[in-house]
Amino acid sequence: MTKIILATTNPHKLEEINLINSNMNIQFNIINQDFNPEENGKTFQENSIIKAKEAAKITGEYCLADDSGLCTDALEGRPGIYSARYAADQKAKINKLLEELKNVPYEYRTAHFICAMTLVNPKGEIIHTETGKIYGYIDDEPKGGNGFGYDPIFFIPEYNQTMAQLPQSVKNSISHRANALKSMLKWIECNL
Ligand code: IMP
Repeated sequence: MTKIILATTNPHKLEEINLINSNMNIQFNIINQDFNPEENGKTFQENSIIKAKEAAKITGEYCLADDSGLCTDALEGRPGIYSARYAADQKAKINKLLEELKNVPYEYRTAHFICAMTLVNPKGEIIHTETGKIYGYIDDEPKGGNGFGYDPIFFIPEYNQTMAQLPQSVKNSISHRANALKSMLKWIECNL
């Protein structure tokens, strides 16, 4: 059984991974101690590398880290790597983004969530990276109560719903994180 530490202390990330990982011979655990590396990279990938290397330094195990966020085309990619820090709380973040996009017509409100993942070995050397995305539009008002973050304003045309209107199980199978993770798990199965 391959053992991998997730570079997070968030048990929800473990649950999400195990839903996708259920048929595979990989055991994931989260970090059970203080873990707060400074995410000062210039890209999602750089931030995931910072987290993965720090986790390996602490645990001495194979470690998997992710970094994700929302990028809008009309705002040159914002909030991007600043997604978590775009405003004081999630309501304020959504309102700020809606305000910035208020004169932008629907067809130009294209956006994507992105998730960068990095796997390092126990020495902290990068052994594989993956990127997952999901494309949609920024709606003009929040809709739906599921999910978290920017989900209520991320409209997915194929489902005619926002990410927050989708059942959690559907989101977990189509999200940027799911897409990155599925490819990462395949790689791990074949190579570790
Ligand atoms: P993290 O890298 O997973 O911590 O994500 C950084 C920030 O991006 C979060 O605080 C959210 O604001 C946003 N974000 C990432 N993934 C999602 C998602 O699946 N739905 C909504 N917002 C997300």
